Amino acid sequence: MLIREFRPRRWILGRLEAGRDLLQGLLDLAEEQEVRVGAFTLLGALTQARLGFYDQKKKSYRTLELDRHLEISCGVGNVSLRDGRPAVHCHLVVSGEDGECWGGHLLEGTVVFACEFALADLEGEPLERRLDPDQGLALWPLPG
Ligand code: ZN
Repeated sequence: MLIREFRPRRWILGRLEAGRDLLQGLLDLAEEQEVRVGAFTLLGALTQARLGFYDQKKKSYRTLELDRHLEISCGVGNVSLRDGRPAVHCHLVVSGEDGECWGGHLLEGTVVFACEFALADLEGEPLERRLDPDQGLALWPLPG
């Protein structure tokens, strides 16, 4: 098990512009605000979404493409480092007009209609993602 402790430095609340790619917008936010370790939540709406499902046997993402208007019913994620630069990991539950839901790993190609974020900038030794060959993913390394 990996456990690391951090202290909150500040909370950053704000809004992303319509038409912006959500993943790139979150990366820009982390870079511009120099957040090296953080955790965030998102609320809002999208004009389209691209969500990933990780195929654990093939060790690759399958893409769910949703070309429709959606609510961000729940968005959660974190910021850590990968190759010395901020990396964003975000999962979304999105919902359609009848309340039906889809969820998954946020991919590029997800377009903001409106998005409010609350990002906690955390103080402490940054976590650095590394490729874990067993999972085939860039993860926080386990001790030992
Ligand atoms: Zn993920």
